[in-house]
Amino acid sequence: MSYLSDVMQMVREMNPAEPEFHQAVKEVLDSLAPVVKKHEKEYKANKVLERLVEPERSISFRVPWVDDKGKVQVNRGFRVQFNSALGPYKGGLRFHPSVNRSSMNFLAFEQTFKNALTGQPIGGGKGGSNFNPKGKSDREVMAFCQSFMTELHKYIGPNEDVPAGDIGVGGREIGFLYGQYKRLTNQYEGVLTGKGLLWGGSLCRTEATGYGVCYLCEDMLNAHGKSLEGATVVVSGSGNVATYAVQKAQQMGAKVVTVSDSNGYVYDPDGIKVDVVKEIKEVRRGRISEYVKMVPTASYRDGKKVWEVPCDVALPCAIQNELDLDDAMDLVSGGCFAVTEGANMPTTREATDYLQRKGVLFMPGKASNAGGVAVSALEMSQNSMRLRRSFDDVDRDLKNIMDGIWTQVSTASADYGMEGNYVAGANIAGFRKVVKAMREQGFV
Ligand code: NDP
Repeated sequence: MSYLSDVMQMVREMNPAEPEFHQAVKEVLDSLAPVVKKHEKEYKANKVLERLVEPERSISFRVPWVDDKGKVQVNRGFRVQFNSALGPYKGGLRFHPSVNRSSMNFLAFEQTFKNALTGQPIGGGKGGSNFNPKGKSDREVMAFCQSFMTELHKYIGPNEDVPAGDIGVGGREIGFLYGQYKRLTNQYEGVLTGKGLLWGGSLCRTEATGYGVCYLCEDMLNAHGKSLEGATVVVSGSGNVATYAVQKAQQMGAKVVTVSDSNGYVYDPDGIKVDVVKEIKEVRRGRISEYVKMVPTASYRDGKKVWEVPCDVALPCAIQNELDLDDAMDLVSGGCFAVTEGANMPTTREATDYLQRKGVLFMPGKASNAGGVAVSALEMSQNSMRLRRSFDDVDRDLKNIMDGIWTQVSTASADYGMEGNYVAGANIAGFRKVVKAMREQGFV
């Protein structure tokens, strides 16, 4: 067996029943083959890959809380501190029923390479809980967040580990978490990002992931003589990433015709109205099906996915493995020529391979959704310096960071004779930085 397959086998044995983690590691290891071949002796001797696939620390804990009926509920909390070679652990908290050890390990592993691509001094981590905020009252969400932070605060700090939001964790949850952290530690410090603007948050953080997706998509399209301007775009999801990807794509001249949630999707032939999506999702916390009541010219398809809609560009912005092989076939037959991932690993391996074989330009999430964590790192420095920067200033930095990611990803893929394979380019570019820092810091 080769070194790479030995390491993959080890990951499977040490982390049984963790399919998402296996999927993420396999994708990275497969695309590292040419790099590993070049340095195999040294990597093997220093157990570079074995260290890279093992989290530095992994915490799981009980989260008891009391619901509105006075009943005790118990959830499980996680924080995976995967790799701190480049800086303090950084990565979001996800509150979703699907959260388990596998999804946490996969997300924290991916985050390590993504953070490296941003060029900011941040390591990789991820956390969350199988708590489902959907349908809970504000009081219940607060009770959960306070209990979650009562345990988590022991392991985080502005120079140690700085969590942020992710699925199910937006401004409301970050507020409750921060309040409890402050109460427990008596410190007013940059320990979470995505904070409210009155208490240390950065302008442009809310928009950063979605905007960054579009900036990187445009860089990739331009390199191939195409543009978002005039393109028909389908977007999945209607949360933070999707909403601001729709907004920026429209500002760049695209026509975005879909948004979705886990129940179905909306098709608006005249272009999605972002203010309506925000009203439903950010204010009412409702279902996307309500869109058609407010925009009667739009239609709603229950239980269906957006990929059946013909388009030029697809932006999957909802959740892992939401775009499978059948969906990829639908996209290709509908004329799609580019996919840029907004979510983390939304495209299955089979779908990614198929799209690449068919010549569809494909940008993986660890490059294209890195704008969120990049602006989080800018929020960390604003907090440390007690500074407040303007929206345009931060947005300009975001655009520069995304352009830098494009350069790294396209160059790395070309360096190893895989021009146009941006999955390989992103993995190789992130890997090279993390491994260099790890080697320089010794066997830790
Ligand atoms: P949100 O919780 O704000 O939104 C998630 C959206 O996805 C909701 O509209 C949700 O609908 C929808 N969704 C969930 N499951 C499905 C499904 N099976 N099919 C279709 N839609 C579904 O999360 P974010 O927007 O923050 O995150 C989205 C993705 O982007 C995640 O993969 C996340 O890890 C990634 N990401 C987020 C960053 C950020 O800054 N927020 C940064 C980098 C990556 P419903 O309400 O029905 O659940």
